[in-house]
Amino acid sequence: MVNEKLSQVLNTAEYILLDMDGTLYIGDGLIGDMDETLAYLRSKGKKLIYLTNNSSKSRQKYVDKLKDIGLYDDMDFVYTSGIATAEYIKTNYKDKSVFLLGTDALKEEFLANGVKLVDDQTPDLCVLAYDTELTYDKLCKFVTYLKRGAVYIATHPDVNCPHPEVFIPDAGAFMELIKASTGLTPSQIIGKPYSGMGVNLMNKLNADKSKFIMVGDRLHTDIAFGNNCGFSTVLVLSGESTKEDIGKADGIPDFILNSLNDVKNYL
Ligand SMILES: [Mg+2]
Repeated sequence: MVNEKLSQVLNTAEYILLDMDGTLYIGDGLIGDMDETLAYLRSKGKKLIYLTNNSSKSRQKYVDKLKDIGLYDDMDFVYTSGIATAEYIKTNYKDKSVFLLGTDALKEEFLANGVKLVDDQTPDLCVLAYDTELTYDKLCKFVTYLKRGAVYIATHPDVNCPHPEVFIPDAGAFMELIKASTGLTPSQIIGKPYSGMGVNLMNKLNADKSKFIMVGDRLHTDIAFGNNCGFSTVLVLSGESTKEDIGKADGIPDFILNSLNDVKNYL
């Protein structure tokens, strides 16, 4: 019954939204024959969209990485919370000025999307991203502009970023620092588990929610995101979450697979 339903959802879907780490690969190692699985999905007419909350790197960096490990095809698409934030600003705050707490790579993407960036004048908006080039000067400007009344937006809420030895501080940790200093929290957060990236994609692609499936290994981000957008969700057990975790965290998946490679049994 569940299997039939998964086949039906897979047949209806046009876009497969893919988390990356823990879903397609772990570190630099593919999970099983993931290259063949993605080729199979493409052969069935599915369009693959790689989603990441990491707003410190450019889309091209991810394309290069995916190509290096044999996954990317020119039909595919990478979507980051940083680009989604730039698009959100363009739609909702057209022509407003932005101070960006972010990397040079993200600055380039904001500019390419037509966002007006300012540095030494009070902006209309302050955007907090995963700034791996953070300086004290940038932090001081950020809190000053917030206190002067700029609208506060964050690219994504992750407190930590996976790293080979220990977790390292991500945008959510910077948000805590800003909150400790100013008492202020973002009025809008774009990345997973919030629905911003999904809403943008539905608009960009002119497709309704029934055309999307979200596949990921984390319940509280990937699956909660899919649920918040009204997409069908598939939890893969190849990464962080186990079957036992279901129900303990936000995000109940519609379907569970040991890995995405099992999708061939249903499509
Ligand atoms: Mg993951």
